[in-house]
Amino acid sequence: MSVNPGELNWQKESTCSLPENDKVKDFFFSTEPSEKYQAKNLCFVCPVRKDCLKWALEHKQIWGIWGGKDEGEIRRTLSVSWNGQESRRQRFPQCPYCNARPNRLKTLVVDTPKGGRWSTMRLVTCEACEFTWRSRTSANAVDAYHAQREEKLLKAATKKKKVKKKKSV
Ligand code: SF4
Ligand SMILES: [Zn+2]
Repeated sequence: MSVNPGELNWQKESTCSLPENDKVKDFFFSTEPSEKYQAKNLCFVCPVRKDCLKWALEHKQIWGIWGGKDEGEIRRTLSVSWNGQESRRQRFPQCPYCNARPNRLKTLVVDTPKGGRWSTMRLVTCEACEFTWRSRTSANAVDAYHAQREEKLLKAATKKKKVKKKKSV
């Protein structure tokens, strides 16, 4: 995917680009848990964590640590598997910024006047922290979560009604 000029301006203020953090730079793509932990800790004090996380999600960065989340967490948020393809397993995402449960996530469809062949795009937004990102696969997963939840609630309500009816006979 091409990157528009200015789109990466937030990187100028990133904590990981400071010379004193040179030693931790390689840890962002490490598989060693203690190194990953150190990299994530830098993200949590980074002033551009939100921009970084949003950029990673919207550009499907499914390797490395971005905005305090590692590849597994980013893939789960995007509902994609290791190869970037939409996952068939239904593992519902939490908010990647504040960890709010999926019931706090909502999907939106917005127009993209300059979107070329795409006239609309799908966004996911967190009611708890207002973090928003654009992703078709995340939006599908969040919609699936709400559909499944509604179905469960409906089943529970029907069961309750049946029990009530039985008792009153
Ligand atoms: S959030 Fe983490 S990876 Fe992103 S710019 Fe900040 S320190 Fe670097
Ligand atoms: Zn949130």
